[in-house]
Amino acid sequence: MNHFLRSFALCSLAFLLAASPTSAGWKGGVAKANITPQEWMPMSGYGSRNNKHAESKLTDLWAKAIVMEDDHGHQAVLVTLDLIGIDRGTSMQVCKRIQKAHNLSRDQIALSTSHTHTGPVVAATLKPMHYLLMDDANKKLVGEYAVFLENQIVDVVDAAYKDLGSAEFTWGSGTATFATNRRNNKESDVPKLREAGELKGPRDHDVPVLLMKKSGEVSAVVFGYACHSTTLSSMEWSGDYGGFAQIELENEFPGAVALFWAGCGGDQNPLPRRTIELAKEYGRRLATAVVKATKASMHKVEGNLKTRYEEVDLSLAKLPSKEELVEQSKSSNHYIVARAKMHLDNLAAGQEMSQTYPYPVEVWALGNDVTWVFQGGEVVIDYAIRIKGELGNKEMEDVNVWCAGYSNDVMAYIPSLRVLLEGGYEGASSMIYYGQPTIWSPKVEETIIDSVKRLNKKHSQ
Ligand SMILES: [Zn+2]
Repeated sequence: MNHFLRSFALCSLAFLLAASPTSAGWKGGVAKANITPQEWMPMSGYGSRNNKHAESKLTDLWAKAIVMEDDHGHQAVLVTLDLIGIDRGTSMQVCKRIQKAHNLSRDQIALSTSHTHTGPVVAATLKPMHYLLMDDANKKLVGEYAVFLENQIVDVVDAAYKDLGSAEFTWGSGTATFATNRRNNKESDVPKLREAGELKGPRDHDVPVLLMKKSGEVSAVVFGYACHSTTLSSMEWSGDYGGFAQIELENEFPGAVALFWAGCGGDQNPLPRRTIELAKEYGRRLATAVVKATKASMHKVEGNLKTRYEEVDLSLAKLPSKEELVEQSKSSNHYIVARAKMHLDNLAAGQEMSQTYPYPVEVWALGNDVTWVFQGGEVVIDYAIRIKGELGNKEMEDVNVWCAGYSNDVMAYIPSLRVLLEGGYEGASSMIYYGQPTIWSPKVEETIIDSVKRLNKKHSQ
């Protein structure tokens, strides 16, 4: 190579290096799409509503998407949804379309729901509580909403990609205290117990915060909290306290999109509850915690984005026999009847009951410091406490392990071994409403924790 060509080659190399993604810094994009049902339809979350339709709207419901890209070009997409949950079928279908449209693998997408109890029935979620007890007209409405929802989610991710550009990410954490362990405190006693500082049971009051800034302006604020979205039980569409918190934050940061994800609040309730004022108040308190965190010492996200996903075979206890299902189908409890008939129909169609459920676990490393764990189902608080304890960096003042529940597939409650052995709603009877044939096996906690650790370890390999 002569001298001229060599210097030309070096110049080109220098130009390529300057323009290559390795020196470009992180990128981000965000968007939101309205997913409030366009027709009045059955509401999800409480069987006592008997699939009655919503009658008015308190707040809109949103699908929001944020795309993050590290300086090596690795991307992750988080979608937050103001919904009770999402079933495996809908989740798989949505992810397949997003993967195809943006050339992603499954580990690069997380779908996180807020678990609002004032949203619509989502496809097959809580099937024996809703879909199986509906008339054909309602089934049609639920089917049409599922199609609308799927398209809105795919579109909102497309829109977030269109917004992709140079961005700075920072993280921190705050505290909010309205989540109360509902297994350990009688609801009517809560105000008195709180006053006396005598609330019992494990809880997690952390409020993780991720901020995206573009050209110095906040363009997205992502935050989570471990508490059921059950402040409200009325016949009005609303995002509950998480919905109000998002509204507060979008007012606080004009032009920004606020995204809420639910933590492992399977056994936590916002108490006291049941008034719009309280839902707004909890939303305000959560938003205040987020704003306070953003004004304190936020840390820059540095290093690489790493994404891992797997489905582990989560074992169920001994499955019921066909005879036992027939017996259950004669129960006076119409949810038990609906579940039994569903499984008997499956057996008649040649579909054997499975001893395990393909349970989704996803772990992201958000740069060098933050580990973000996404679990499927209604995860109880013991998981967050254990995972933070085992994976967290104790030297950091801010919580650097973030534990999301209600993600990717909400198929059941996910009790810890403690809660499983105690039984009750979260440990046992809630399985009926989700259509699971029986309770989880005692291996539930260790199987999930092993998976979280395995995926986390892969990041460091
Ligand atoms: Zn729940």
